[in-house]
Amino acid sequence: MSKPQIVIVGAGPAGMVLAYQLVTNGVPVRVLEQHPDLEREFRGELLGPSVLPALDSLGILPMLTERGFARPGVERRMFVGAKRRVTLPGGAELGAQISQPGLLALLHELCSRHPHYQLDFKTTALSAVREGERVTALVVRREGREERVEGDVFVVCNGRNSRLRKDLGLDVELSEKPDSTLWLRFDFADAPEALPRTVDVHMFGKGVVVVHFATAGKPRLQIAYSAPGDVGALRKDLPALRERLLPTLPEGLRELVAARIDDRMESQVLAVAIDRLKTWHVPGMLFLGDAAHTMSPAGGQGLNLAIRDSIVAANHMIDAVRAGTPIDAPVFARIEGERRPEIEAAQAGQLRAHRMVHKPLFVEHMMFTMLGVVMRFKTFAIPPPPPVEPRHAVRATPQ
Ligand SMILES: Cc1cc2nc3c(=O)[nH]c(=O)nc-3n(C[C@H](O)[C@H](O)[C@H](O)COP(=O)(O)OP(=O)(O)OC[C@H]3O[C@@H](n4cnc5c(N)ncnc54)[C@H](O)[C@@H]3O)c2cc1C
Repeated sequence: MSKPQIVIVGAGPAGMVLAYQLVTNGVPVRVLEQHPDLEREFRGELLGPSVLPALDSLGILPMLTERGFARPGVERRMFVGAKRRVTLPGGAELGAQISQPGLLALLHELCSRHPHYQLDFKTTALSAVREGERVTALVVRREGREERVEGDVFVVCNGRNSRLRKDLGLDVELSEKPDSTLWLRFDFADAPEALPRTVDVHMFGKGVVVVHFATAGKPRLQIAYSAPGDVGALRKDLPALRERLLPTLPEGLRELVAARIDDRMESQVLAVAIDRLKTWHVPGMLFLGDAAHTMSPAGGQGLNLAIRDSIVAANHMIDAVRAGTPIDAPVFARIEGERRPEIEAAQAGQLRAHRMVHKPLFVEHMMFTMLGVVMRFKTFAIPPPPPVEPRHAVRATPQ
């Protein structure tokens, strides 16, 4: 039986991790990406224990580390206010900081070793073509022209605000819009020794949360500033940005950042969303990653969950190809069924976190004091997410 042609929309982490597993198992894949390259800034960069073993077994993590695009052993630390370090019931969180462009470029390079892989840049999926109920093609725009892309199975990994979701009129069962986040990036090439080695999250009460960390692979400091109201206005009002941001920073960073708040500073506003499709598939088409369930940056989970989605999807899709059965509704339902409980729990946790950071600072202090007392007598057993193993792992090797 001939193998199905899989079309993946979006060359983000969900799309490229899926592509890698399918392609290395001999399944033909065509990826459509709207951007001209894989460069992207202001995205999830911290990989946690829920995906690191899987990326290790695929050989991706060692190659990323070798190339300087992954920094293992990075701790995420939580603070109430500027100085008081607090512990969450799950204990210390250690992960690896990665460069998303580095990860995506490596996956593209590894996939490109196979003749049955194709990635089309500057190609935007506009709408789905249906024959009866089934999606059989996509209308895409490329080089200013519209054309059709045919395939047997379509996997939509095009992230938040997925237009295919809207095009198909899919229902959402959750749609929350917490405060927006202003992402800032500063060049620290002349002061790399000042860059933090940890990812530090500071909660200042009434919705103000400030996160700082160094970008993997480049000497840059990233700061995420979340607060109620129009944080986007702060991009244009640099005195106001200085007034609000600088007092929140540790002393070692404050002056260095103050000297860099000018028109060389890079910034982006993230309209934070937490949403989820009611059903992640229609005949012929499956949604994964942020396209199926957009995550807030709270807890830094979106990247990890998108990768876990793709590992599970590849397991079931390759099972079907090997069994010679179609990749259709029952396969999609198994993928969604395996992923849904973790996604629902993670989104519920993010909503709780957003509510908690809206309390006044003194209430946050009290909550963590009480939590500390309880944790002295009672160990909280927060079950880790179930292991996600790439069952058809083909280990990547440098050529
Ligand atoms: C500013 C910002 C900061 C973030 N910070 C964190 C963080 O600290 N920690 C964390 O874990 N997560 C964070 N996230 C979330 C994390 O980056 C995402 O959850 C993760 O990237 C989701 O992966 P994905 O592959 O599903 O989607 P994406 O990474 O969004 O990739 C989607 C891809 O599809 C392409 N695309 C979109 N539409 C089309 C179309 N119509 N046709 C063709 N291609 C299309 C896009 O160009 C993109 O390459 C952040 C996200 C943003 C935007």
